[in-house]
Amino acid sequence: MTTRYCRFQHEGRAHHGRIEGEEVVVLSGAPWAGGEDTGRRVALSAVSLLVPSEASKVVCIGQNYRKHAEEMGKPVPAEPLIFMKPSTALNAHRSPIQIPKASQEVHYEAELGLVIGERLKNADEATAARAIWGFTCINDVTARDIQRREVQHTRAKSYDTFACAGPWIVTGLSAADLRILCRVNGQVRQDSRTSDMVFSPARLVSFISHIMTLLPGDLVSTGTPSGVGRLVAGDVVEVELEGIGTLANLVEMEP
Ligand code: MG
Repeated sequence: MTTRYCRFQHEGRAHHGRIEGEEVVVLSGAPWAGGEDTGRRVALSAVSLLVPSEASKVVCIGQNYRKHAEEMGKPVPAEPLIFMKPSTALNAHRSPIQIPKASQEVHYEAELGLVIGERLKNADEATAARAIWGFTCINDVTARDIQRREVQHTRAKSYDTFACAGPWIVTGLSAADLRILCRVNGQVRQDSRTSDMVFSPARLVSFISHIMTLLPGDLVSTGTPSGVGRLVAGDVVEVELEGIGTLANLVEMEP
């Protein structure tokens, strides 16, 4: 059985919660850190959802779907290719993506997000699999023109609002073969399955943990399938993962 967990703003305060039907059960803290039921309930329709975890970092994977590596003109990597987005780039469900003035070509990238539930260092794949606490949807928004002309990914991937995550976290799910979709203004642009990944979630988390310590709440974004393309102001972009939900964001110009 799957369970949905969220973070939300209600009456001026941020809370973690467990979604039950049309209500949210308020928790005393992050559920992966022992947060418990407070007994309070609020209507899901009355809260505004926040990014589902306060990640210290977002570790992203490049070229983890064969057809996307092809469309980027890159070989499938022999080992996972990683880069990072700062926590300041995190952006919640329904919060606008802002196109920076420095880019003329901002792209969507629909991705399966992993939420890490415990401190992890030098983990084997079995330990890494157990440390994946849940799954969410991520849009790895990218300034493609900047990415193309630089060797490093940091600038192209790190603008504020470029790490959309949500709308919530789902636990108790197998993510081995989920349909992954991106829609722009209702039109399907990416449509693949997580079974097409080159490296599995457990392999990715184990690999990353041999480089850096993963902390509870950290996010790992597992790469995007083929079909990436441009966003312009006024677009509504949706990332949908089967069994998880749909992350939706409006696009606007940076003020
Ligand atoms: Mg990506």
